[in-house]
Amino acid sequence: MIKKYYLLSPGPTPVPETVLSVAAEPIIHHRTPEFSKIFMEVTEGLKYVFQTKEDVYILAASGTGAMETAVINTLSPGDKVLTINGGKFGERWGNICRAYGLDTREIVLNWGDDFSKEQLAEELKKNPDLKAVFTTLSETSTGAIFDIKGFGEVVAGTEAILVVDGISGLGATACPMDEWKIDVLVTGSQKSFMIPPGLAYIAFSQKAWKLVEKSKLPKFYFDIKKYRKNLEKQTTPWTPAVSLIIQQKKALEIIKNMGLENLLKHHQILGDATRAGVKAIGLELLAKRPGNILTAVKTPAGVDGNKLVKTMQSKYMAYISNAQDPHKGEFFRIAHLGYMGGFDIITALSALEMTLLDLGYDKFQLGASVAAAEKVLREGWQ
Ligand SMILES: *Cc1c(COP(=O)(O)O)cnc(C)c1O
Repeated sequence: MIKKYYLLSPGPTPVPETVLSVAAEPIIHHRTPEFSKIFMEVTEGLKYVFQTKEDVYILAASGTGAMETAVINTLSPGDKVLTINGGKFGERWGNICRAYGLDTREIVLNWGDDFSKEQLAEELKKNPDLKAVFTTLSETSTGAIFDIKGFGEVVAGTEAILVVDGISGLGATACPMDEWKIDVLVTGSQKSFMIPPGLAYIAFSQKAWKLVEKSKLPKFYFDIKKYRKNLEKQTTPWTPAVSLIIQQKKALEIIKNMGLENLLKHHQILGDATRAGVKAIGLELLAKRPGNILTAVKTPAGVDGNKLVKTMQSKYMAYISNAQDPHKGEFFRIAHLGYMGGFDIITALSALEMTLLDLGYDKFQLGASVAAAEKVLREGWQ
């Protein structure tokens, strides 16, 4: 059998061929009118996806670089902050805040659990001196999404800013920055933005810019004021990742031609199809509030979850993702974000069924998950 590689992970995600090919074009110099034109087009395109009138800044970093940028540009030593830790990435907010000596109050949830806007309102009432609330749009380690709209309503009535990690979620699930009163929104290039890893994006509301003016945490490479000053000259403070920005221009064209609304609907259909598929073979979802970005599925009793992921990858070349530490093997993650289509879901489900049989789990009708997903896809693809 020819071993064809199927990338079904929630980052990095597949990149369209038309986007891959522009990376092979000769490098152009970044301090030129030609590059500035591309750079400004990408900046505008990002504003469209962020749904904001504020500027979006492009950093040469992975998503975590934008998370760190959010922290160090808005806060000062000793500031009190709240982080919502619903998994690996929510946990990262706490780790960054503590690294910078912030007085960090952390809400720790069981992986897959939800946190309501009422619960957040309660925390804010108990801690009126909070400077910032850090949360996650799509917790990629669990497949759960949070009520960012509700959080925005609650935080807007306080002095605090709402900082949202939109890495993986933005571009796949609704998150209009201005309408939902998000103060800082960050994301990365290798999840829903259909390009390789290496770029991170960040935007600040007017409320957040006021904190930027007062912020005293140390910063240099990620000093957002340097980016703001350079954007006026249609450039970046440091050498930008030229090829990736050119790729992002191409990928944003795909997104704009499709339209954000259609793109979100596409993800809704893929999410519905995946959930229908795994439920049809008796498997359970991890997330209480599952998003349309990826689906985390509990490993059925009697099956070794690590072996399941390994078999899917090595025998069937279906590169789904294992759960992350400390929950490795307890569940696995099927991605459906970015440049993925309905047949990627069919591939994942088909490989999953065959793997389950290989591992001795046969409490289902072969093909049942594929049939259930096909039904959703056929009805969705009108
Ligand atoms: C991938 C991811 C990150 C980390 O991004 P890197 O690009 O690996 O630095 C952070 N948050 C979420 C929600 C993610 O999905």
